[in-house]
Amino acid sequence: MTTTGSPFSAQPYQGIATFGRRPQTRELSGVDVAILGVPYDSSTSYRSGARFGPRAIREQSLLLWGYNNAQQVAPFEVLNVVDYGDVDVVPVDITATHRAIEQTAATILQAGTRLITLGGDHSISLPLLRAHHERHGPLAVVHFDAHPDTWDEEYPSFKYSHGTPFRRAIEEQLIDTQAYLQIGIRGPTGGPQDYADARQLGARMMTFDEVTDLGLPAVLTEVRQRVGGRPLYVTLDIDAVDPAFAPGTGTPEVGGFTSHQMLRLLRGLSGLNLVGADLVEVAPPYDPQQITAILAANLVFELLSMMATK
Ligand code: MN
Ligand code: MN
Repeated sequence: MTTTGSPFSAQPYQGIATFGRRPQTRELSGVDVAILGVPYDSSTSYRSGARFGPRAIREQSLLLWGYNNAQQVAPFEVLNVVDYGDVDVVPVDITATHRAIEQTAATILQAGTRLITLGGDHSISLPLLRAHHERHGPLAVVHFDAHPDTWDEEYPSFKYSHGTPFRRAIEEQLIDTQAYLQIGIRGPTGGPQDYADARQLGARMMTFDEVTDLGLPAVLTEVRQRVGGRPLYVTLDIDAVDPAFAPGTGTPEVGGFTSHQMLRLLRGLSGLNLVGADLVEVAPPYDPQQITAILAANLVFELLSMMATK
């Protein structure tokens, strides 16, 4: 196994940036969790730049010391975590890129290794869901986002973009819609049909207003009841978080979660059967002082901690 050096033996700012200063390797023997980057943003519909997300999140993950006080676990001690590197994307071809994502994810999952993926735009969740479905069957999905991403065609006759992955995933029966929750939805749309369509498809949509009216404990109670013991995939579009806390993203919507609320929501999923996760839409060109990438790195740390406590 190739490594970048013994973890935490050097200063955080020393060496090449891998996620959490984990070893970079594609050797999966004995590996519990792989971090995978997908530097692809060709299906963004507004401002692009998420192709630089994986690199920025790795860069801002260097200061993650080992112990998670909130979840009372040291994920890097409990789990063998590696940085697998990036998928070979094809920026001019979403089909080829999705195929490469699915194949890479399948290779990792077949080794018995769990996967946390750094995007990239939200289109990448579709091939990731395909690979996880192949291994686990229909998935419970907790989807944090400002947007439902359940359009049929964001552009006439084009079925694949970052606005359509969850309609495609439902059509392909990758998601168990009894346990599909969209959390944090808000902002202007072209009309009422966007939300109606998502609900028609079976999503339990919790708009941001509903989440704040219910309060986080009630939200988490419902999420946990719906998910139960199902294999759970968490997909986190960073634009679920308010642009005051996460400005570095392509389609910002005001009036979202604080950083702390987002952390608490993830921690509230602890103990569920988390089989995989992605964090998408971090766009460093709009991210002053790396605000968004720092948050993203810490959110991934929470996801890893969840995997370590289960
Ligand atoms: Mn979004
Ligand atoms: Mn999204």
